[in-house]
Amino acid sequence: MTTSHHPRALTDSHGRTVNYIRLSITDRCNLRCFYCRAGKDTPFMSHDEILRYEELLELIGIAEEMGVRKVRLTGGEPLVRRDFMDFFERAVTAYPKMDFRMTTNGVLLAPIAPRLKELGLRAVNISLDTLDPGRFKEITGLDAFGAVWEGIQACMDAGIQVKLNAVAMRGVNEADLPGFIELARNNPVHVRFIEFMPVGGGTTWETDRFWSSEDVLKEAGKYAELIPMPGPPRNSNFDEEAGNSRPSKPYTSGPARMYRIEGGQGALGVISALTNHFCDACNRLRISSDGRLRTCLFSDKEYKLRPALRHPKLGRESVKKIITQCGAIKPIGHEILKQLTRERRAVCDKRMSSIGG
Ligand code: SAM
Repeated sequence: MTTSHHPRALTDSHGRTVNYIRLSITDRCNLRCFYCRAGKDTPFMSHDEILRYEELLELIGIAEEMGVRKVRLTGGEPLVRRDFMDFFERAVTAYPKMDFRMTTNGVLLAPIAPRLKELGLRAVNISLDTLDPGRFKEITGLDAFGAVWEGIQACMDAGIQVKLNAVAMRGVNEADLPGFIELARNNPVHVRFIEFMPVGGGTTWETDRFWSSEDVLKEAGKYAELIPMPGPPRNSNFDEEAGNSRPSKPYTSGPARMYRIEGGQGALGVISALTNHFCDACNRLRISSDGRLRTCLFSDKEYKLRPALRHPKLGRESVKKIITQCGAIKPIGHEILKQLTRERRAVCDKRMSSIGG
């Protein structure tokens, strides 16, 4: 299913090159983080609606033919989908040139970390908002901090680069900042505080809870000397994240602004999706587990790929056409965000658990 030629990369009407897809493989999650899934429950998708593994593999192949170089597997929680490891093995075998990444809550990670490394996973994003087991339970509804911690250790032991993502929330995890700094000082991990985004109608985004990246950095400066790491070249499309481990590529910081900690091994950073948006350099598309293409995190406009994918005659070419046409009119999310200042509410209805972050 792989191609040998170099396809022309997909470019949108703003000149942005799209070479990265976030692929949600399930809408189910084993955590119930209050800011992501609380409130009125949206029913899970039925098994029929969710793309089968074969269909996900086909989509990855189509994306590769269209110039996509990186696929991040997400969810829901990707590791709760049955036979995930078989799927991952098939994916890395079928598309050896694709840079596969994953974002997980880490609860089920520890036992599979060595095998993930063997299969070529170089870096993993683990979502962790607090280092306090009690607070972890309050935030997520599950007493599973210990399991996540084991997952982090197992990845470090296996040689997988660990990036921890914490949603920065006032009154929730401000007290965790010094602990995260110590963690990054003493271990080769990157900790990134992400601005709390007004995504998901009915969830609990509030201006009072918003803790801006600037304020996180100001506070962090009290505990450590932060040395800025080089950012991406101006006007370039960035690779997604700091710490791109490919030696042939320049070090880029992507949407994260990263800082080395003087005398430490790891790094601390911020992702300012609201206060310092990175729409100009956005290189990504999202596909939900039921095969809807979402061209901007902040826009609920979605395009169905599943009917074409499942159609006996339309198939691949038709899916490509939809991705090309819809990718070309990818919005500038910041324009959508402006609405927030007017209306003070979530800018889109879909929750992060079904979008995939
Ligand atoms: N379960 C996987 C995980 O935990 O990484 C993947 C999906 S989860 C929805 C992806 C990320 O979105 C998590 O780091 C979560 O904390 C984050 N997230 C959810 N709602 C958010 C919001 N309103 N603002 C910022 N980040 C959010």
